[in-house]
Amino acid sequence: MSSPPIHWYPGHIAKSERQLKHHLDKIDLIIEVRDARIPLATGHPHINRWLKGKQHLLVINRCDMVTTAAREAWERWFRARGQRAVWCDAKAGAGVKRVQQTAIRAGNQLNERRRNRKMRPRPVRALALGFPNVGKSTLINRLAKQKVVASARRAGVTRTLRWVRLGRELDLLDAPGILPPYLDDQQAALYLALCDDIGQAAYDGELVARAFLQLLIGSQKRDASGITISVLETRYGIPVAEKTRDPAYWLQAAAARHTSGNTTRMAQRLLDDFRKSALGSIALELPELRGA
Ligand code: GDP
Repeated sequence: MSSPPIHWYPGHIAKSERQLKHHLDKIDLIIEVRDARIPLATGHPHINRWLKGKQHLLVINRCDMVTTAAREAWERWFRARGQRAVWCDAKAGAGVKRVQQTAIRAGNQLNERRRNRKMRPRPVRALALGFPNVGKSTLINRLAKQKVVASARRAGVTRTLRWVRLGRELDLLDAPGILPPYLDDQQAALYLALCDDIGQAAYDGELVARAFLQLLIGSQKRDASGITISVLETRYGIPVAEKTRDPAYWLQAAAARHTSGNTTRMAQRLLDDFRKSALGSIALELPELRGA
């Protein structure tokens, strides 16, 4: 599939990345939050640099947005690579306790070492890191059991760094969504745009919607992905027939029916529907599709 060009790197994110480097030596544990619909595309290519000497807790959030088959496929994939991920749905709270317990266990190890060196135990200092909109703030709010950071469905809302105390055992540095300076992988960039993990200014919504349609239309046989092409007919009344297999045609036909012929608005509606799961569970990435 050809991907529309996607460009970004908003200034405030560059600034926060510099701030973040500043705080890194104080951190014991990095809680890396990814999006279950795209567990690879939401992995930061430089994470290994930041992880040096620290523990790593991989959290795959939005697990409610993919099928069980997709989740199991990814669990096998991560396990085969020696990585264990905690899956959660920060919005509903499922799996959050496990995130907390795993973080505290990391703290216990830390304090064991401190005790051996006759030092006083202290809370584990964790950093929650991840692309904008993966659900970091929601997870932190859940962990804190109260609203401590603004959470919104807009890429890049969390801007400044601050420490949040979560009980006696965990101090958490809330970092903003971090984007890598360049993303060579345009396919990953498309996925990030679809999931609203990069700001809308970085891409043309209509081109991204057409690429999404292409993906839906071209993928009838991937059961684990959860994609059902018939949703295009049941939700919008436009079946995928010979002509409408072309995404541009489909979008035009749907726009004629729903948005007075305005394809930009129709594209936005399609993207919004995907983002709020109105098209069902859709795993955009699956291990077997990434040459795994
Ligand atoms: P952040 O930018 O990474 O801090 O993301 P937020 O925590 O602000 O979350 C962005 C949006 O996604 C909010 O509307 C949340 O309610 C929603 N959200 C967060 N976690 C989940 C989840 O696990 N499942 C679903 N369905 N929505 C989530």
